[in-house]
Amino acid sequence: MASEVPAIRIRTFVDASINEAGDYVLYWMIANRRLVWNHALDRAVEMARSLEKPLLIFEALRVGYPWAADRHHQMIIDGMAHHRARLDGLSVTYYPYVEPEEGAGKGLLQALAGSACAVVTDDTPTFFIPKMLRAASAVVPCRMEAVDSCGLLPLRAASKGHAAAYHFRRFLHKTLPEHLGEAPRADPLGGVQLPELDGVPDAFLEQWPPAHELLADEVFWRGDPTQASAEEQDGRDPTKASGPLLDLSSLPIDHSVTPTATRGGHGAARRRLDDFLADGLERYAEDRNDPDSDAASRLSPWLHYGHISAHEVFSAVAEQEDWSPQRISGPPDGRRKGWWGMSEAAESFIDELVTWRELGYGFCYHESDYASYESLPEWARETLEAHAGDEREHVYSLEELDSASTDDEIWNAAQRQLVHDGVIQNYLRMLWGKNILAWTEHPRDALDIMIELNNRYALDGRDPNSYSGIFWVMGRFDRGWPEREVYGKVRTMTSRSTRKKLKLDRYLERWGAQGSLL
Ligand SMILES: Cc1cc2nc3c(=O)[nH]c(=O)nc-3n(C[C@H](O)[C@H](O)[C@H](O)COP(=O)(O)OP(=O)(O)OC[C@H]3O[C@@H](n4cnc5c(N)ncnc54)[C@H](O)[C@@H]3O)c2cc1C
Repeated sequence: MASEVPAIRIRTFVDASINEAGDYVLYWMIANRRLVWNHALDRAVEMARSLEKPLLIFEALRVGYPWAADRHHQMIIDGMAHHRARLDGLSVTYYPYVEPEEGAGKGLLQALAGSACAVVTDDTPTFFIPKMLRAASAVVPCRMEAVDSCGLLPLRAASKGHAAAYHFRRFLHKTLPEHLGEAPRADPLGGVQLPELDGVPDAFLEQWPPAHELLADEVFWRGDPTQASAEEQDGRDPTKASGPLLDLSSLPIDHSVTPTATRGGHGAARRRLDDFLADGLERYAEDRNDPDSDAASRLSPWLHYGHISAHEVFSAVAEQEDWSPQRISGPPDGRRKGWWGMSEAAESFIDELVTWRELGYGFCYHESDYASYESLPEWARETLEAHAGDEREHVYSLEELDSASTDDEIWNAAQRQLVHDGVIQNYLRMLWGKNILAWTEHPRDALDIMIELNNRYALDGRDPNSYSGIFWVMGRFDRGWPEREVYGKVRTMTSRSTRKKLKLDRYLERWGAQGSLL
């Protein structure tokens, strides 16, 4: 079927013809958890319109995946509440499903796909999702397509992962302009009239009760985005939780990793983006690394859960900068500054949002062993191995690190922020990783510990950029530096130099051992 969605973003998982006798087009929402700026939703809507069939959006949340915990569930369920509110009264049926126990959701996709004309889902390169898509393609009886809405550059625009940001930037300069006009629709459901589905069949609802029946209504609606204005009137921050938290105690997930104050969903994400544009972007180039200045966007959790799209963020920055692609200037030579033709602050932000973020997505998409020690560049492995026997000033266990019990005040503060808030300020996150590399017996242990702690606690963990950041600590995307003990030629960072470089008073007051954690 002809498509407005660029063909390069559509991957056919089941190459069957469309089942025109089906009851609906099924959008199986698994990564792009949003109703705006989403190529996969665009594809599902265009199919439903052209077939004149209803659209069923099925958003599922499993329990049996690594690091499943209240914290991550809470964010996704907040997003579900947002979707339920947004879709109320529209001609689209929404079916949110939270698996009550491991394996309970088995068969649901297959059952829904059995009555579908076609299944459209999200393409994304990491975690359990690629494996889940392959497994789904064995049981879906109709056409199934996975659509890439990960970033500005389609994942398949490159044929390999790039080894350094500089090379990728050059590639972007050459390739990205032709894709800049291909953004997804800002509001794909606006004004859309589709035939309505007469509800999801009762047999399905009985076997797989939707989340709004599984969870008590007043609790489920804690994340209702329409409450935001009331919170704002009260002077409260609508991106932060204020009501009671969901009762997730019956679910077989890790309850020790508790929800943070950050609320999930597109409403909260958009609010944060607007605040950043109003007060943050201008200071970004200079102050991003300063833990006390709050000049970074803090958007990574919502980007991770798919609650906001990189396209939407880019478009908002472009609008604020009064930018159009005609402002791109000069040769496609990989320059960090001046190519976009935006202000220095905006270019610096776009370099993180596009170059660094999509470097990681592309790498994970093309290099399936992205999470293994062996995927490090050869020079990094060689030098780390050569120094694996060097004496370490300290060696800490996973438990000591987890409980922030090291002798390093700054590191402990960063770890406390991670455990309590699910984030670490950007510069300190690099230091956090570098110290783990210095404090473990072997670089392989450092890798395992970083992956474990980052993915257990970080709201934005389990993401392509988790592996970018963690493997960057070990030399990926970087070059060799003067050789040192323990690190070899891998770039070093120390708490001593960090203390000299950054103002940390307020940060340590909050996250240090005496901090209030409030
Ligand atoms: C050890 C370590 C672990 C990391 N783990 C994660 C992780 O689990 N998830 C994650 O999203 N990022 C991770 N990063 C990268 C980076 O620290 C975060 O993306 C950034 O701090 C998020 O804060 P922000 O949203 O305010 O970013 P901003 O500075 O406002 O940047 C905007 C967006 O650009 C992207 N971005 C920014 N910096 C980087 C970077 N260095 N690499 C890739 N993308 C970037 C993010 O999507 C971010 O939201 C890690 C870095 C390190 C050193």
